[in-house]
Amino acid sequence: MDVQKRVRTCISCGAKSDKTLLYRIVRASDGSTSFDSTGRAAGRGAYVCSWACYVEAARKGKLDKALKTKVSQEDYGRIGAELAAVCGDSEA
Ligand SMILES: [Zn+2]
Repeated sequence: MDVQKRVRTCISCGAKSDKTLLYRIVRASDGSTSFDSTGRAAGRGAYVCSWACYVEAARKGKLDKALKTKVSQEDYGRIGAELAAVCGDSEA
């Protein structure tokens, strides 16, 4: 029986949810940053609960802080596009 809590916090609004309900962004060991659609990729991860929270986190540089790296504009755009596809909401 797996009763272990897997709660993670949205880096933008601070909402707590089971990690399977959040969107994970991962920084791999090579420094590249990407949207982790599996939620299992190796590396430091950060979670957001929605597309809107991703945009907010990106705008305020919270993603950089959470991942302890400098996320490039290119990566922000690519991750945002992937997230929008998953969230079904491309409103920026
Ligand atoms: Zn949020």
